[in-house]
Amino acid sequence: MFSAPSPRAIYRNRECAVVGGNIESVRAGGGECSRACLRRQAACARAGYRAVVISRHTRRDDGASGAGDETDGVDIERLRELALDKKVVAIGECGLDYFRIMNNESGIKERQKEVFLDQAKLAQELNKALMIHCRPSKGTDDAYEDLLTIIPNSKFLIPKIIHFYVGSLEITKKLVAAGFYFTFGGVITFLPRRSHLAEAGAGDYDEAIKYIPLNRILLETDCPYVAPQSQRGKRNEPAFILETARKLAELKNLDFDKILGEIYTNARTVFKII
Ligand SMILES: [Zn+2]
Repeated sequence: MFSAPSPRAIYRNRECAVVGGNIESVRAGGGECSRACLRRQAACARAGYRAVVISRHTRRDDGASGAGDETDGVDIERLRELALDKKVVAIGECGLDYFRIMNNESGIKERQKEVFLDQAKLAQELNKALMIHCRPSKGTDDAYEDLLTIIPNSKFLIPKIIHFYVGSLEITKKLVAAGFYFTFGGVITFLPRRSHLAEAGAGDYDEAIKYIPLNRILLETDCPYVAPQSQRGKRNEPAFILETARKLAELKNLDFDKILGEIYTNARTVFKII
């Protein structure tokens, strides 16, 4: 586990426009978040971060939390109430996580799909972006295939962003055609660039990144996890994203400044940040 960011880290990140965090914990100072999580949120608020993404997070028995765990349902009314805040620019992360499911125990995939669809509909209703967590089972693209049928582009016209994307080239082509956006984190800088997070389609991960048009790409930290190669093992933070951007520029064979400008524009566009 990582502790809250130090004052120095907050200073280092003061000019980063960060999208992330959970408004309920920022506002109420309570709820399901741990104390460490609350300290991080408070630090973000002090640093002037101005956009948040919300969804319901529940905790598994092992203490981990994440999208795909909300199989006991989501209080959509409560989520709607919070999401009406102007600072909320997206609903999420929510989605499908098949990575740890064995033999679809007790219909858990079906429950994940229902809970995800409820939140996708809310994003559509409020005309806010949808931040999607989608993790396939090992060596497959199964969760991405399901994503295409659950939220077809014809019905969901909001920006649909797949965070921490790790799909194969084949599924990437389908998702690009269906209008999705993709975010990449520090994992693209890893040497070798093959973490457990990139097992699906690992052979052509670089090819998938090269294939996606630049105007569909965003970068992320997934803070505090997955710091880029030169900072591996440390607490991740927005300032480190420059290393990820440098790697993206190399893969795309484009100028670093151009990459920075384009990614910034993309973020402003999908989250309607002025
Ligand atoms: Zn996630």
